[in-house]
Amino acid sequence: MKSDELFARSKRVSPGGVHSPVRSFSSVGGNPIFFLSANGARLTDVDGKSYIDYCQSFGPLLFGHRNEEIAEVVRDTVETAWSFGACESYSLELAEFIVQRIPWVEKIRFVNSGTEAVMSALRVARAATGRNKILKFDGCYHGHLDALLVKAGSGLAGISSSDSAGISPEMIQNTLVLPLDDEASLEELFHREGRNICAVAIEPLPANYGLLIQRKEFLNKVSKLAKEYGALLLFDEVISGFRVGFQGMAGHLGIKPDLVCYGKIIGGGFPVGAYAGKSEYMDLVSPSGKVYQAGTLSANPFGMRAGLATLSKAWKENPYDKLSIACEFLTSKLVETINNHSKIQWEPVTFASLFWLKQKSEKNIRRVSDIPSGHRENFAEIFHKFLDVGIYLAPSGYEVGFLSTAHTNEIIEETIHLTSKAFAE
Ligand code: PMP
Repeated sequence: MKSDELFARSKRVSPGGVHSPVRSFSSVGGNPIFFLSANGARLTDVDGKSYIDYCQSFGPLLFGHRNEEIAEVVRDTVETAWSFGACESYSLELAEFIVQRIPWVEKIRFVNSGTEAVMSALRVARAATGRNKILKFDGCYHGHLDALLVKAGSGLAGISSSDSAGISPEMIQNTLVLPLDDEASLEELFHREGRNICAVAIEPLPANYGLLIQRKEFLNKVSKLAKEYGALLLFDEVISGFRVGFQGMAGHLGIKPDLVCYGKIIGGGFPVGAYAGKSEYMDLVSPSGKVYQAGTLSANPFGMRAGLATLSKAWKENPYDKLSIACEFLTSKLVETINNHSKIQWEPVTFASLFWLKQKSEKNIRRVSDIPSGHRENFAEIFHKFLDVGIYLAPSGYEVGFLSTAHTNEIIEETIHLTSKAFAE
C-alpha cells in the first residue's frame, strides 16, 4: 500500500512520521492512512480507496469538506490577498459578526490555534487578577501549553503519566487539578486556594477524553465559586463553540464566562483560534493594555473569510437540531449492529453533532476514572473493522466523532449498511 510507503518515508523526516500524535494510529495500532483528497463527507486515500469521514479534521468542518459556498470565498481570497500583516476589513467583519451574536463576547482577538487562544487568555487572567494559580480538570485538554499539560486528554488520553517531558516543575507549580463532576472537592479547594486562583479553565463539554457530559449543577457550581472568589471563568469552547449551537455550551447552559476560547469552526477549516470576553479583561491586551500577544499570520484572510462564510451559514441555516437528530440516529444504529455481532456491548454518548462510542456501562460516565478498563484496546478492534469497509473514525477511543451537514440521510444509510457488512463478516 502506498500509505505504508509514505509512512515509512515520513518517519525518516518527522517525529513518529506525523505532525500531531493521534494521526499516527498509535492508539489503535497499524499504520496510518495517507489521504489525498476530501469532499463533503468523503475522503480518498493515496491508494484510491474512499471513506466516509466521521473525524472531519477533528471538528472545524461543520459543513463537511470543501463546502461550495465556503470554497468560493477561499477562491476569491486566492485572487485578492493572502496575508497583509496589516489592518484589513475581513477580521473586523468576523469580529463584529461574533460580537453582535454572543453577548459575553464584547471583544475578541484572533490567533492561529486553540492552544494559542488558551495560553493568551490565561495571561489575561493573571494580569486581571494579579494571581497565578490556575484550576483545570482531569481529562480536559486545552492545547499543548506547558501550564495545562497536566492530566490532559486528546493525544495524552490513556497514557499513564499524562505530563509531557520537557516541562519543568516551575511551569506547572501553579496548576491545580480536580476531577470533573465533584462539587465537594471543588468547594474544599476553593476554600483553601480560592483567593490565589486567577482562572478556572474548563471545557464545558469535555470532549477530549471521550465525551464526558457534565451535570448542569456541577458547571453552575464551578461558575458560582469562581465568581465568589474573584477567579475568572474561562470556557474552552474550541470544540463546542459554534458546534453545539451558535453560542456554544455557554449559550446552551445559560452560564456567562468571563473569557472564552474558540478554535476549529471559527476558521472554517483554516488555522484560526480566538480568545474573547468582557471588555474590561480584553482591554488589558496589547496595544490597549500591557498583556503582550502578537502573531505574524494572525487574522489571515483565508481563516477570517472562511470563518465568516462558515459562521454566517451556521447562523442563517441553523443546522444544529437536524445534526443532533442525525447523530443520535446514526450512532444508535451503529451500536445496534455492533452489539448483534459482538460479545462486548457498546453504547453511544452523543451531544449535538458529537459522538463517542463506549462500552455499555451502568452509569453515565462523567469522569476519566469512570471509563471502563480495556476501552482503548476494544475501540481499536472496532476502529479497524470500520476502517476496512471505508468508514473513517478518529483514530483513538478517546477522541470524539463529528457529523457535518454533508452527512446526508443517504450517507448515513450507507454508513449503517457498511457497518452491517463490517461486523457480520
Ligand atoms: N482546547 C480544546 C478543547 C481542544 O479540543 C483543542 C484541540 N483539539 C485545543 C484546545 C487546542 O487547539 P489546537 O489544536 O488548535 O491548538
